[in-house]
Amino acid sequence: MTVSNDKTKIICIGAGASGLFFALHCADKTHDVILIDSNAKAGRKMYISGKGRCNITNNCEVKEFISNVVRNPRFLYSAISRFTPADTIDFFNEHGCPLKTERGDRVFPVSDRSADIIDCLVKECRKQKVELRFNETVTDIRKENGQFIVCCKDRKYYADRLVIATGGRSYPSTGSTGDGYRFAQSFGHNIIETKSALCPIRIKEKISKGMLKMTLKNVSLTASNDSFNKTLFGDMEFLPGSITGPIVLSMSSLINRLGHVDLSLDLKPALDEDKLDKRLIREIEKEPNKNVLYLLKTLLPEEFIEFFLNNTDTDPDTVLNSLTREKRLQILHELKHLPLSFDGLESIDKGIVTSGGVDVNEIDPKTMESKLCDGLYFIGEVLDVDALTGGFNLQIALSTGYSCAQAIRKN
Ligand SMILES: Cc1cc2nc3c(=O)[nH]c(=O)nc-3n(C[C@H](O)[C@H](O)[C@H](O)COP(=O)(O)OP(=O)(O)OC[C@H]3O[C@@H](n4cnc5c(N)ncnc54)[C@H](O)[C@@H]3O)c2cc1C
Repeated sequence: MTVSNDKTKIICIGAGASGLFFALHCADKTHDVILIDSNAKAGRKMYISGKGRCNITNNCEVKEFISNVVRNPRFLYSAISRFTPADTIDFFNEHGCPLKTERGDRVFPVSDRSADIIDCLVKECRKQKVELRFNETVTDIRKENGQFIVCCKDRKYYADRLVIATGGRSYPSTGSTGDGYRFAQSFGHNIIETKSALCPIRIKEKISKGMLKMTLKNVSLTASNDSFNKTLFGDMEFLPGSITGPIVLSMSSLINRLGHVDLSLDLKPALDEDKLDKRLIREIEKEPNKNVLYLLKTLLPEEFIEFFLNNTDTDPDTVLNSLTREKRLQILHELKHLPLSFDGLESIDKGIVTSGGVDVNEIDPKTMESKLCDGLYFIGEVLDVDALTGGFNLQIALSTGYSCAQAIRKN
């Protein structure tokens, strides 16, 4: 390690969003920062984020931000207030990577390229003289005589402060394989059991090939059990064996510690039962000699009708003028409450984020320092924090990285 003795030596493990943001804000004349990552490049997970466009933050106030955090919102209050979504927007706009705000206050680079966000962060790290060490996997960490020893396969690093920014354990091909939990445990930290979050939900019903390409727009998904009842409105999609899309991903984060839930779909949430019945009557009166299949085509996407018929008692061949009131109300009920058979969540490697991780009760929320070991810090997804979709998770990485950098620079 090529550092002079009068400087504080800091090692950060992980050059993802949190590690990069930490490093560029921490390195200065009196703080030498080495950023180590097992990948050949920085920001592998950020690269695939937002479908390659990187939804870097959500353009909202702190209070609203916190309401989108699923686990430990109170813990994050200080970090998000210290470095807000507005600060993120200013940062990238001022550092050559202009941002734009889209529907749902989601913020993306104007270029629609996640690589531009990563390049901006790496460029700033280099400007601040952060030493970037790629293709180095940390295998073990320990503290001896007040110094941290960071062991990689072929070499050891020594530091006064150690920052763990190793991410969660979802999408392990991006390098986040859960090593940070092991490192934390070796210092006595408690790890809250990890679960998939923002992931598809498996269902038992058969999903046809045609459904794989369609989006069910503006529907409501309800999950409930004896102690939980939540309805989310928006779009959803189908995968072989599972459902996905914005409302499903968000729902998965809310139910991942609940065990079994009942799922049901409202295919016409904009119409209450009375209005939907009037609509059915109107369609029936318009074309009395057509059949129920025709009626369904006026209400549902064509690719979805087979699924609806397979999972309800609706007879598609009944001619509309012979449809009894009882049968009409049955169709109405099925459109408003189509049950889906919950079959668990997809595995953690398919989750966009990891729920669980380093127990935040053992971390100072202002500095991200361990309460169990002086000079040891945890930032980003390795912590037991996660949020809904919309740019919140990357902002958490940036804000916790920033708070940690400020704290280290102060003393
Ligand atoms: C498909 C997908 C899309 C997403 N889209 C969005 C989005 O649009 N908006 C949003 O807000 N969030 C999104 N997220 C979530 C967001 O990307 C993460 O929450 C965020 O990247 C976490 O940052 P981090 O720095 O904590 O961890 P990571 O970005 O995971 O970085 C951790 C780094 O640590 C390194 N590392 C791990 N262990 C070791 C070790 N032993 N030695 C050396 N290096 C190690 C890894 O190689 C990795 O580079 C998405 C996630 C996925 C998977």
